[in-house]
Amino acid sequence: MPAGRSEKTGTDFDALAASALARCDVLARCTEREGEITRTFLSPAMEECHDHIRGWMEDAGMTIGVDRAGNLRGYYADLELNEDAPRLIVASHLDTVPRAGCYDGILGVMLGLAMVEALDGRRLNFGVEVVGFSDEEGVRYGLPFIGSRAFIGKLLPPHLARRDADGVAMFAALDGYASAHPDVVSAAHHPQSRGYLEFHIEQGPVLEHAGLALGVVETIAGQSRAMLKFRGRAGHAGTTPMFLRRDALAAAAEWLVAVESAAAAMPGMVATTGQISCETGAANVIPGLVCCSLDVRHASDEMRHAAVQEFLATARSIAERRQIEVEHAIEYDQPAVGLDAGLIALADKAVLGAGVSPRHMTSGAGHDAMIVAARIPAAMIFLRNPGGISHHPDEAVLVEDVASALRAGLHFLHYFPDYLQNHLQRLTESEPDSCTT
Ligand SMILES: [Zn+2]
Repeated sequence: MPAGRSEKTGTDFDALAASALARCDVLARCTEREGEITRTFLSPAMEECHDHIRGWMEDAGMTIGVDRAGNLRGYYADLELNEDAPRLIVASHLDTVPRAGCYDGILGVMLGLAMVEALDGRRLNFGVEVVGFSDEEGVRYGLPFIGSRAFIGKLLPPHLARRDADGVAMFAALDGYASAHPDVVSAAHHPQSRGYLEFHIEQGPVLEHAGLALGVVETIAGQSRAMLKFRGRAGHAGTTPMFLRRDALAAAAEWLVAVESAAAAMPGMVATTGQISCETGAANVIPGLVCCSLDVRHASDEMRHAAVQEFLATARSIAERRQIEVEHAIEYDQPAVGLDAGLIALADKAVLGAGVSPRHMTSGAGHDAMIVAARIPAAMIFLRNPGGISHHPDEAVLVEDVASALRAGLHFLHYFPDYLQNHLQRLTESEPDSCTT
């Protein structure tokens, strides 16, 4: 028996993994711009991508539809071929950033499909719905997670009123999509959706550094975004002595190095200045005004908020010492999202079953799982990302890691009925006893 096959079922995980990757390559050719991968919300390239996946899903015995938010949905019915059986959702997104790699999002959908293929026609006592979300990156409307927001009923009127670069409102784009696809189904998730599983490349170097193929996401980090303005005094670079300067850029530089070392000393904290602009911006002028960004992420909202306050206090004390001014504006405060403890435990068993020792991780990037988790218990498994590069054509994944992910996926399917049973029991226990008066 070849090494890639399961002894119990004869499933050739290596072949299925290779096929999932080959499909990612096929889908990479569905692009809005020749020579790169760019695929946005409701675009013809997305339509083409759906056509490919639809064919593969049909061959795997699934029923397929697109919903009103442009999500592609394939259902693999349970033993009794019941549309209303409890179901597990396996999903990720099919859109990309401009000039993307092949795997961010797409691999998660291909793994969902490969899990169904690995069943080889065998039906379970629950349904499996594989969903390819229409938008996660937010490229067209500057609003991420359109697909998963619609899925949990959180695509709201202010979102729908947003306009793209051509002035097309989101509601108009969605209406156009629905008239072009008269058979669209409701975007809402099925009421029997009992669990959500998302596979995703890590988009970072942690698993590679640890020498692990897979990791189990425990929390999706909360995020703070602030803009700071350091206001000094512009002056002539040749005539102003060093002790009379109020150099805004030197102050900002001192501050961001201080933030870097402070964050490095706080476990699990990441803090970044990725944008900086400097006035006057001439080689012979002392900088008078510097604007820079601050992005802070952590699994604990309390620790993140405390860190942001500390970084701002550092900016104030540097400014005071250098006799310049500093002001800030908090632009964004997104709370951390903890995934479901029961499904995390199940993901641990599944990953262990695939021969990988389960490591819990915080996701520093946002994912559909964090949106869906508000309504459906969610779990997420990361795949090692060689080089830690994502949102870039060099994005990579190893075929043997994809095979391990698929093995973990099959173990997840195997254990899911236990989870359903326990979940049901918890629900019954928490219900008030209607007989007692
Ligand atoms: Zn993604």
